[in-house]
Amino acid sequence: MHYQPQKDLLQNRIILVTGASDGIGREAALTYARHGAHVILLGRNEEKLHDVIRTISDEGGHTARAYILDLLTCTPESCQALAQSIAADYPRLDGVLHNAGLLGEVCPMDQQTPAIWQQVMQVNVNGTFFLTQALLPLLLQSESGSLVFTSSSVGRQGRANWGAYAASKFATEGMMQVLAEEYQSRHLRVNCINPGGTRTKMRANAFPSEDPHKLKTPADIMPLYLWLMGDDSRRKTGMTFDAQPGRKPGISQ
Ligand code: NDP
Repeated sequence: MHYQPQKDLLQNRIILVTGASDGIGREAALTYARHGAHVILLGRNEEKLHDVIRTISDEGGHTARAYILDLLTCTPESCQALAQSIAADYPRLDGVLHNAGLLGEVCPMDQQTPAIWQQVMQVNVNGTFFLTQALLPLLLQSESGSLVFTSSSVGRQGRANWGAYAASKFATEGMMQVLAEEYQSRHLRVNCINPGGTRTKMRANAFPSEDPHKLKTPADIMPLYLWLMGDDSRRKTGMTFDAQPGRKPGISQ
């Protein structure tokens, strides 16, 4: 995407990123902070989140805060409690990037382990839904809220071996579409990003024999992540965007 964001694109915006400890989420948190946002980091690894906070501080960004939430074990109640803690510290949320995700097993349906299937659904769908529900009141306090889910090419076209991950990303696209229609006449837009093959741990797990240097880095795909959080995308809702348009999906091994 050829997008040249203003340096102060996200000035005064409060943006929460899930899975902010690593990969694409870490890069998104740093990028939002570099464009003036107050960033809220969510994750399950306190040490890694504090490293992101330190980097934001070293780069001169607004002070970021981290909250611990394990999407694998979270409940509607723990998500509501988390939202209350955030509401005690912040007046609103202008953006939420649901980025955290679990790959599970890349193998045929008849070999998918039911317990791992359930974990993928819990992290990618149920936990993400509980958290969304809890954060909606804070998002609706914003004059132009942006709720962004993270999808995948296998969340639009099922492909062999992608099992629970593909099913969970179809559910993600569905959740986005339902919410977008429900909030169409409010100040909240809801969209999906498909990052496309990106150099992270998850990608390396899915494609162990691939040369990671042939892949875009998380930093390379940030223009779309910025555009969707800022006012330049204000009229867009209910849509799914590719961070790497035209890129062919990989074939699982
Ligand atoms: P990574 O595995 O590098 O990072 C995943 C992030 O999610 C980490 O911060 C991780 O935390 C967090 N996370 C995982 N499980 C939980 C949990 N139970 N509770 C809280 N946080 C959790 O993945 P990517 O950066 O590659 O992926 C980011 C998103 O992009 C995902 O939704 C993925 O499905 C999607 N995507 C990625 C593609 C790619 O090629 N990389 C392609 C298409 C989609 P921790 O640091 O503690 O492990």
